[in-house]
Amino acid sequence: MENALAITPSAFEIEQYLLQHGATLVGFGDVSEGLAGELQHMPVAVSLAIKHPPPGKNLVHTTRGAVYSNRYQQIDLLLEQLQKRLVGLLKSRGYRCLAIPPDSDKHDPRFVARLYPLFPHKTAATCAGLGWIGKNGLLVSEKYGPRLSWATVLTNAPLEVCASPYTSGRCGKCRRCVEACPSGAIADVEWSRAEGLVPHIDAAACRRQMEKNAGLVGEDVCGICILACPRGAAALKGVTGNRWPR
Ligand code: SF4
Ligand code: SF4
Repeated sequence: MENALAITPSAFEIEQYLLQHGATLVGFGDVSEGLAGELQHMPVAVSLAIKHPPPGKNLVHTTRGAVYSNRYQQIDLLLEQLQKRLVGLLKSRGYRCLAIPPDSDKHDPRFVARLYPLFPHKTAATCAGLGWIGKNGLLVSEKYGPRLSWATVLTNAPLEVCASPYTSGRCGKCRRCVEACPSGAIADVEWSRAEGLVPHIDAAACRRQMEKNAGLVGEDVCGICILACPRGAAALKGVTGNRWPR
């Protein structure tokens, strides 16, 4: 595949290449409007996602209800490998790149790590048409719901970008995460890009819930709003059909 890409790596070829190496979703977005000054020389975002396995042992039933961790270290490692492949490929063609890691480490001492918070994966994925920001504040894909881990590579390579980015949510009348949230942190409000990336979530209430859960399961997780989401539940079970309210 590297040979096939040696001449002109188109967005389609890069997508196929990354899918072959384990990506679930690959998209390309024009993010020039959302870039901080330090990053404006790389206006194309390659958004990558890998789907989560069924909850399995990441789902813990406690006396106060279920708790779910959506942290999958192996998936993050695979995303980083995909990023390395892509960065290597684009750099070998003379393009500039910056890989924003899957779970940007706030304690990463490297200078480049200071740039990571300047660019959220949500910007890349929505501009690439791969998902919208759900009422639960997470990226939601039509096929996989919020059960994906994400990474981004910014570049100045002239790749064809998505012509139909998400600029607003598609949750519609669904309010399952709103009702399921044990801390009442989720407002029943649809995301709109015009309002920025800040979701309608009471972050402090969510944080308090996670701290409570840490006492129960030893980890500051909750994830009930992920479990509750009907989007992508069919893909998880290997069946088809839309079962979410409109
Ligand atoms: S993680 Fe838990 S507390 Fe936080 S918004 Fe989701 S359901 Fe609510
Ligand atoms: S549960 Fe419903 S409202 Fe919440 S993110 Fe999923 S689709 Fe949107």
